[in-house]
Amino acid sequence: MPSLDGLAGILGDMTTFSIRQIGDPVLRERSDDVTDIDGALASSVEVMVKTMYDAPGGGLAAPQVGITKRYFVFHDDDSETALVAINPEIVEERGECEWTEGCLSIPDIGFTIVRPEFVTLKALDIDGNEFFMEADDYMGRMFQHELDHLDGVLAIDRVDKEQRKHIMRLLHERELVTPAPANPFG
Ligand SMILES: [Zn+2]
Repeated sequence: MPSLDGLAGILGDMTTFSIRQIGDPVLRERSDDVTDIDGALASSVEVMVKTMYDAPGGGLAAPQVGITKRYFVFHDDDSETALVAINPEIVEERGECEWTEGCLSIPDIGFTIVRPEFVTLKALDIDGNEFFMEADDYMGRMFQHELDHLDGVLAIDRVDKEQRKHIMRLLHERELVTPAPANPFG
């Protein structure tokens, strides 16, 4: 008989979304603006946060869980809490830097991408209040990556030709290999 802790773990696992993987057409759609910040949105945000931390990841955009609406959740390094950015926009950007990005929808691959170094994000929070956040380094990069998801753009679209060729070959080879079962032998 499982302990209550174990049971809570099992129930907890059920309340996450599955993360859509490259090849899923939903990842290529342009998401629509959020028009109502209501209870349904708040519940989806809650489940997305859990999905993000379980993955684990530092950000997760709605289309990655099959919802084509313009919002993403992220871990805010400053407040050490999860936040949501609704109808986000980048209103200012400066500089340029190279960074290796990962993506939960294209796991286990690094994408070396040049993008603006400093960005200012403008978005609505879960109460519908507008906020601005200036970011560089990891957070600045994550904002740009998540915003791309809302436009149906993936990291693979942002790498140079040579990298793209290698990654496409790797993804193709993966398709030819039978994935490991969920209950492998010891
Ligand atoms: Zn991604």
